[in-house]
Amino acid sequence: MKSFRKVLTFNTRNRRDYINITDQVIDALTESGIKEGLCLVNAMHITASVYINDDESGLIKDFDAWLEKLAPYMPVSQYHHNGAEDNGDAHLKRQVMGREVVVAVTDGRLDFGPWEQIFYGEFDGRRPKRVLIKIIGE
Ligand code: ZN
Repeated sequence: MKSFRKVLTFNTRNRRDYINITDQVIDALTESGIKEGLCLVNAMHITASVYINDDESGLIKDFDAWLEKLAPYMPVSQYHHNGAEDNGDAHLKRQVMGREVVVAVTDGRLDFGPWEQIFYGEFDGRRPKRVLIKIIGE
């Protein structure tokens, strides 16, 4: 069995951002040379997510509005977590959108369902943050 590891770094201009990272994951899969196996992609920070959904601009706005309704950034004083930090909302948003995704690798390709794309969801950006790609198989 082969194993491949790669780390991507993102530094978003906005506090919250949603980035389609599918091409970067496909590049990693190509680099790995693995044809059959599993590909894990996870956020390495507890205020960011990796998730799979449609790359449709309306949906991305809907996710953002929905998350902001569930866990509004302001007022920052509403979260027990805040004090030294102001990212209580970002921890909650990450929990809803998830930490990682696993995609089957079949015949050297990510074995997606219709319209599936891999996204990095940032909820407390404007600083370098990492995403881990781990691919195992043969
Ligand atoms: Zn925090």
